Amino acid sequence: MKQKIENLKKSFLSEIETIEQTKDLEELRIKYLGKKSPIQGLMQELRTCNSEERPEMGKLINTLKQEVSREINTHFETLEAKELSLRLSEEKVDITLPGRKSFLGKKHPLSQMLDEVIDILIGMGFSVQESPELESEYYNYGGLNYPPDHPARDMQDTFYITPDILLRSHTTSIQQHMMENSVPPIRILAPGKCYRNETITARSHVFFHQVDVLYVDKDVTFSDLLATKEEFYTKIFKQKIEMRVRPSYFPFVEPGMEVDIKCTSCGGSGCVLCKHTGWLEVAGAGMVHPNVLKAGGIDPEIYSGYAWGGGIERLFMLRHGISDIRLFTENDTRFLTQFV
Ligand SMILES: [Zn+2]
Repeated sequence: MKQKIENLKKSFLSEIETIEQTKDLEELRIKYLGKKSPIQGLMQELRTCNSEERPEMGKLINTLKQEVSREINTHFETLEAKELSLRLSEEKVDITLPGRKSFLGKKHPLSQMLDEVIDILIGMGFSVQESPELESEYYNYGGLNYPPDHPARDMQDTFYITPDILLRSHTTSIQQHMMENSVPPIRILAPGKCYRNETITARSHVFFHQVDVLYVDKDVTFSDLLATKEEFYTKIFKQKIEMRVRPSYFPFVEPGMEVDIKCTSCGGSGCVLCKHTGWLEVAGAGMVHPNVLKAGGIDPEIYSGYAWGGGIERLFMLRHGISDIRLFTENDTRFLTQFV
């Protein structure tokens, strides 16, 4: 048995000499120290030795095991260091290359515009209120005095989720929520996303942002509305603006009107931005319809109010002379980084 141990040691030492890669060394470890290894075989054999021989043989086998393990570990460290230096010598680093630039995220132009609009209106005494994007037919249309056969209610123009639930088509949908839950004076602005079932073109999109303003109190007049709007657009366009109104129809206001401002690009002489009219259409507005006040539990004999709303995309496009609304949702950094 002693001879067997000697032979095993010799064959191990000659074998380990030939190994040049760490992965082959792992195989050697299994071969000599694994469950089916010759050393394990010797341990089995030890049982057949007589009791005088056994302690000495046991000791020899254990010493062999320790030597094998030690040898493998030492050899492994040597090989590993060699492999690492070889790998490093093959890798090339060009320290003269310029570093990669990392870009920090910035606020989207629409968020910037929205923040600015909100700041201005808060400064004018309005408070921010929000209502759901998923809205009932009543809050989006019925409660706003839309007749049952109004074309805007059509599936062609509105995204219906169920016959009664829809994606709000305007932030005006906040009005009945406010009137039902508060007592005048109500002086709020409602910012948010709106959805319309339209073909996506340079001028229209299926989703966009709006800000709606509502003021209900005793003695609110048409001139209050005009004065507020004029101040608002003066602040937005950072210049003295000239404003005009044209009669228009929105079911929730009476009278209703479209608000135009004199083209901020050409000063009214006509250009591409104003389509050579000299005027820019900026908002729809009007005095809150008595039916809307009544539906919200407010007596139109005592209270009156005004409402107006406009698109955030449109405002930004007018201010910066942008002609395609799709740019806001394309995430093209060449466009977005122009406005940081
Ligand atoms: Zn113009």
